[in-house]
Amino acid sequence: MVFITVANSKRILSKIDLKKLNLAGKIYDSPIYFFNKREEQSLLAYKELLMNPERFVKEVYQKAEIRDSYMYVYEGETPCYHKTKDCERLTAEFCNFLIPKEIKERGTGTVRRFRAWFKSNRSLLEGKEEVFEMRVSAAFGVRLRIEELAPRKNSGVIAMNNWSLEELESRISEMLKQARQYYYQSSKNTAILKQYGKLAYLGNSPNQIINNRTGYSDAEVKTFLRDYEEKFKQPIIAMLYDYYRMKFNPELALGVKLLEQLGFRACHSCFF
Ligand SMILES: [Zn+2]
Repeated sequence: MVFITVANSKRILSKIDLKKLNLAGKIYDSPIYFFNKREEQSLLAYKELLMNPERFVKEVYQKAEIRDSYMYVYEGETPCYHKTKDCERLTAEFCNFLIPKEIKERGTGTVRRFRAWFKSNRSLLEGKEEVFEMRVSAAFGVRLRIEELAPRKNSGVIAMNNWSLEELESRISEMLKQARQYYYQSSKNTAILKQYGKLAYLGNSPNQIINNRTGYSDAEVKTFLRDYEEKFKQPIIAMLYDYYRMKFNPELALGVKLLEQLGFRACHSCFF
């Protein structure tokens, strides 16, 4: 058995086209009603990876379409597996960067050009940020703040690593209870969540919402959904990922052959 990082275990999922998946199974012991198909399939795929990795490779990974989301600078690069849990590279948190919105909007060709450009200018991010910003502007004609490159932390911002499985379970149950109460807390909450609870991501989407029958304006609905996503859905999703990991494979220990099928290679630092 060899080891991978939490970030890399999730990157396996980011390469799969979730729309094409159709996994059956239980997300949690108690029913959760506010997940859409994409969220549900993503959670079930992660659960399968940890619970039954061989089946994951056969039934999910090899059958699914592998895609580039064009969201990150380092995507489609080979991630590593490690011989020991002490490997310094395993503990160093993988550091990725977001593709800025203005670049992404110009299409995949520009994203690829930005990625190549970024790799040769990355060192400027350590102490020469102004030079970096100037060069982006010269090369791509965009004014960019460095902060835009930092991946958004999973909202909820709770460090879950120190919780035991039991603690995690009780926190998930508690938050699910709060989410149920919130649904009935006011007629506004019920009206909006009934129609858009599963689609709460629309709050953060640049797209317009359609067929709004809630009795509240589109703008009000969006603001509400953004808040709901941040207060309930994202924290619950983040806790469920942790829950699966702690329950089924807390060390993220997997077989070499299996990881090579998933596109991993041996870490140069601990294998040689
Ligand atoms: Zn290593």
